[in-house]
Formats: sequence, structure tokens, C-alpha cells
Amino acid sequence: MKTIYLDYAATTPVDPAVAEKMMGYLTQDGCFANPASRAHMLGWFAEQAVEESRLQIAKLLNCDARELVWTSGATESNNLALKGVAETRRTRGRHIITSTIEHKAVLDTCAWLEDQGFEVSYLKPNAKGVISVEQVAQALRPDTILASFMLINNELGSINDIASIGALLRDKAVLFHVDAAQAAGKVPIDLKTLSVDLMSFSGHKAYGPKGIGALYVRRDPDLKVLAQIHGGGHERGMRSGTLPTHQIVGMASALTLAGERMAEDFAHLKSLRSQFWQGLSALEQVSINGDFEQGYPGILNLCFSGVDGEALLMAIKEVAVSTGSACNSASVDPSYVLSGIGLSREKALSSLRFSFGRFTTPEEIEQVIEIVVRAVNALRN
Ligand SMILES: *Cc1c(COP(=O)(O)O)cnc(C)c1O
Repeated sequence: MKTIYLDYAATTPVDPAVAEKMMGYLTQDGCFANPASRAHMLGWFAEQAVEESRLQIAKLLNCDARELVWTSGATESNNLALKGVAETRRTRGRHIITSTIEHKAVLDTCAWLEDQGFEVSYLKPNAKGVISVEQVAQALRPDTILASFMLINNELGSINDIASIGALLRDKAVLFHVDAAQAAGKVPIDLKTLSVDLMSFSGHKAYGPKGIGALYVRRDPDLKVLAQIHGGGHERGMRSGTLPTHQIVGMASALTLAGERMAEDFAHLKSLRSQFWQGLSALEQVSINGDFEQGYPGILNLCFSGVDGEALLMAIKEVAVSTGSACNSASVDPSYVLSGIGLSREKALSSLRFSFGRFTTPEEIEQVIEIVVRAVNALRN
């Protein structure tokens, strides 16, 4: 039987139109040259493709193309933003604010910064996975230099009020980094109106290739990001390394396509999610982790009371979903995100994340409802 893919929050397939475009930048008869090669036309053409891609993404996000730095993905963007800024602001203060349910690329970077002498406050979100402006205001200190909150949470789909948090932080002259890996191309982002200084993006969460991302660095003489990867001085000294033209073109065309289809994709996801949730009403004691009303409809994290998540995962093998829990050699730890919104260990271990995408069909959802209802009933009996 064919696997039904409901793990779009982990990664998405590359849109066929995007893959076709990327093919033009790989082989001998394509635009394969090094974009940093200044000595010949082939290099100029590659550079042109890179700069056109930068412009395309800048247009989607309403920022200046010069404010975008190519990276290998949102993990690297998060590292570059936090480490690159913390180091340059060390003399002004050593306090950083983030939340307990950020992506590991933010949390592990913060832990590393703590080892380097910084102090990090980890705010607890509410039961829906949202951080409030009041909480951020209360956590501010005279020595706070930086705050980092995600736009859409990858396990819950909950959405933070980046505009209000940004306004507060700008008022207090604290730099604001936002991890928008799950959000670019899915919800509107207007960097001209948001008070955000740094924002991380990834190609593969929005039907682009893996291994490519970008970091938005607001143009401001007082905002310096120290390079974490040294080499040829590419990307205005912020990130060295030969630019992967095919990946860059892929990410730009994927995000452009996502921008054009944003309303359509969003409505599609909303309809799939309500179809799924209605279908599951045949089951008792299923609850939603996260924010059904205000959250992103592509992610539905569900708790099936009394059912072991790992066992359910095995019982619905033909559906690709995620538990969010981390398997250590000795035991299974519940997802720190679910624990972070106050779920008991038992409830967290009874939860699965279903994430839908552009290519998910209502027929697939019908099948998954049937498979899940049958499996949950069998496991409860
Ligand atoms: C996927 C993801 C990342 C990591 O992005 P990569 O491009 O895979 O490195 C970071 N943050 C969030 C919220 C994500 O969903």
C-alpha cells in the first residue's frame, strides 16, 4: 500500500515546477558556473540568477534584497542570528529572552551561549503555545540585548503575535529575531511593517529544496552580525561559501509560487483540517494540542487519551506522521513542546502530529480517518 504523507511540517516534497527550474542550473548545458566567478560570462549569469532570486524573496517579504543572506537552512540562520549578534553586543549586556518551545536550533544555540557567559530566560507559553507581549515585557532587563520567538510553532501550529512583541522590543531597543521557517510562503510576512531585526527562513518547508535557507538582517549601521563560517567573504562577509545556484533558484521559485498560492493553499489546509477533525468525532477523548482557532491549519496535533503514541504510530504505518518525542537509548521522552504547554507526560506520549500540505487530497484524509479510528479503537480495547 502507498504511504499517505501527513508530515509536511517535517519537510515538503519539492513542487514539480520548482524541480524543473532547478534542473537548469546543474549540468554542463545549464547555468552551473560559480556565481563568484568574475572573470567570465558564465559566472555573471549565475550571479544574475542568484540576485534575481534574492529580489524575488525580498519582494515576497517586503524587504530590501540586500537584507537577505543565503544560508544552508533555518538551523544555520538561527545559529548565525543568535551567535552573530550576541557576540557583537556582549559589551552592552548579556541577557537573552526566548521560549521553552522554540526549535532546537534556537534552544541548543541558547544553551551554547549560556556556556559562553550569556544569561537566557526561557518563557513558558500558555496552554495553546502562545507567548504574550506582557510576559516579554516582564522578562525585560536593563541588560537584555536580544529576544527570539518563532512565528509558527512546528509541532503545534500556534502563531505568536510578532507585530506586538516586535513593537515592544523596538521601543526598548532590544534586538528581535524570529524563526519563520514554518511561516514563509504560508502566512503574510511584511518586514517593512514588522519591528523585526532578524528572521530565519528555510527552503524545504515550503516546497523548495533542502539545504538552503536565508537570514534577514535589517539594514541598520548599528546591527552587526558576526560571521560564524569564515572563508571567501561571500554574502557581505556574513557567510562564506560558494553559493548553490540551483538551491537558491529553487528556494526563490518555491517561495514565489507559495506567495502566489497563499490564499488558495491556506483555504485548502483549513478545509482538510476540518474534514479530518470532523471525521475523528467518531472517537471519544481526542483533544487538540495547540490553537485550533488562531493557529496555522496545516498542523493538527492530537492527543488520543489512553493510547500510546508509539503504538498508534506503528498501527497506522501506512500514514506518515510524527510523534515529536525523542527516542533515547533507554526510554522515550515526551516532546518538550507538549510538556512546554503543560501536558502531562502521559498525555504528551499519547499525542501525534498530523500535518497537511498542498498535495494532500480529501480522499487521503477520508482514508486516514478510517485507519486512525480503527487503530485507536483496537488499541483501546
Ligand atoms: C525545520 C525548522 C527549522 C530548521 O530548518 P532547516 O532548514 O531544516 O535547518 C528551524 N525552525 C523551525 C521552526 C523549523 O520548523
